Amino acid sequence: MPETFTEIKRTADATWNEWVNNGSPRIFVQTNADSMASGAIEVKEAIQDTLDKQKISADVTVVGSQGMAFAEVVVDIIKPDKPRITYGNVTPENVPGLIVDYIVKDDPRPDLALGTQGEGEIDGIPLLKDHPFWKLQYPIVTRNFGHIEPGNLNHYIAQGGYSMLNRALEMEREDVRKEIESSVLRGRGGALFPAATKWNFMMNAPHPKYLAVNGEEGDAGAFTDKAIAENDPHTLLEGILISAYTMGIDKSFVHIRAEYLVAVERLRRAVHELEEANLVGENILGTDFSTEIEIEATGHAYICGEETALMDSVEGKRGTPRPRPPFPAAYGIFGRPTNINNVKTLSYVPAIFEHGGEWFKSIGVEAATGTMFLSLSGDVKHSGFAEVPLGVSLREVVEDMCGGTKSGTSFKGIQTGGPLGGGADWDSLKDLPLEFDPLNGLGAPVGSGGMMMLGQGTCIVDLTHNLMQFNAAESCGKCFPCRKGTGHIVRTINRVMTGLGKMEDLDEIVYMGDTMRDGSLCGLGQLAPRITTAMLRHFRSEWESHLVDKTCPAGVCGNLDGQEITFS
Ligand code: SF4
Repeated sequence: MPETFTEIKRTADATWNEWVNNGSPRIFVQTNADSMASGAIEVKEAIQDTLDKQKISADVTVVGSQGMAFAEVVVDIIKPDKPRITYGNVTPENVPGLIVDYIVKDDPRPDLALGTQGEGEIDGIPLLKDHPFWKLQYPIVTRNFGHIEPGNLNHYIAQGGYSMLNRALEMEREDVRKEIESSVLRGRGGALFPAATKWNFMMNAPHPKYLAVNGEEGDAGAFTDKAIAENDPHTLLEGILISAYTMGIDKSFVHIRAEYLVAVERLRRAVHELEEANLVGENILGTDFSTEIEIEATGHAYICGEETALMDSVEGKRGTPRPRPPFPAAYGIFGRPTNINNVKTLSYVPAIFEHGGEWFKSIGVEAATGTMFLSLSGDVKHSGFAEVPLGVSLREVVEDMCGGTKSGTSFKGIQTGGPLGGGADWDSLKDLPLEFDPLNGLGAPVGSGGMMMLGQGTCIVDLTHNLMQFNAAESCGKCFPCRKGTGHIVRTINRVMTGLGKMEDLDEIVYMGDTMRDGSLCGLGQLAPRITTAMLRHFRSEWESHLVDKTCPAGVCGNLDGQEITFS
């Protein structure tokens, strides 16, 4: 087992250089769960099959996805001394032509290319960074996506990985915390609590103490925790280790959604490699700092993303929220002091520590520093994930980066922050910056970065019904206002959708929401009515059309004849 970071780094650099400079073309298949669903494994097999049949020597590597879900499957080819060309919509059928044309005949196939990356240009193929999807992006947590094999420790270290952990271990813990504090990094799980302030609660807490990493990302339209775990798990793990050192954590539990099979597998591989390299475990890198990391696959329950329910889940119990106080920093997992941070929040830590808190602050705006890692879905041409500086205009994000609606209709609005978030109409949003406070004020919180774009074909009543159904299904049932209130709102919206509703139903929805907000135990019940309030505020005329004219402007609710629909 290597003992110093210098030895580990030397091995990693040698491995990397051997791979990069082996004289053969290198082919990357950008692979995560989404691209696998689009056929990435089959594309990889087709590439290997073509290479074998044509007797072509080339290296085929699975790398992480760069987020271009709209162009899956994405494949890159790097010929020696040529720029990297990124190809989109690659299928097993067009693989043989692409490989033979470019690698054998030197025709780079501009018809399939999305762009080139890195140094140099190729005639007829634009730079990928000039693609509308990329122009706004500022990769920090996503900086390694698509460039290394996910979970490969040597690849990560060769890109500078774990050198910040090594540096932190030589510093006073409080100095590390202060560097993060100076960045004004706020929690990216949606609560926006300053990360370093939260760490401060733990600094002098007694041992054993724990870190719970919240990757229970079960809400519709959010997939950035998954993206980090799948595409660059070591960035998260290095963030965890620096945080663990700072707070003196004995063990970290990475609580990740069980359905995220690729993420769980890649995280486990990464932790195993860390153990082998003595970057986790006893006396890390020969210091007196010891800590463990355990990857926990959750039990398919959205409520386990609520921090106290998450702690129950880690303890092996059914996850249900606990009253606070006591707060987790005093009485957390197994009754011990516990810090809880989101996957994205911790993934910023290595880069902030490397470049400094002032650098991070200079990227966003004063009230919202750094970048936001967005999940982009709905009626939009360029769906996927993207990391942009906070403060950019929503018009740029939606109309330029996302390329407008896929349906060709105009934008109706955006549903933000998942089922516990909100939303607003496009006229109210389009001139606002992507910032926490202005969007909160409009009832469209950024949350954990989920943005579902709505074209004219989306029925707001139907969408609200769907999201409230989700909230009702995920209510743990522990307290009355949430258990009964979520179901009551769903049934009331059902009446609106089926022509049985009355105008008073809208007041009923608001009243019930107020009661839930004031009387529920945890964030799920308190925030669940936010979606109905926001959609009523911004799209009232659409609700009234259902109630008064018995018509659905989007043509979605086809059953306005008074027959109640039974929803499962
Ligand atoms: Fe459970 Fe809802 Fe009460 Fe939270 S608010 S404890 S989810 S019933």
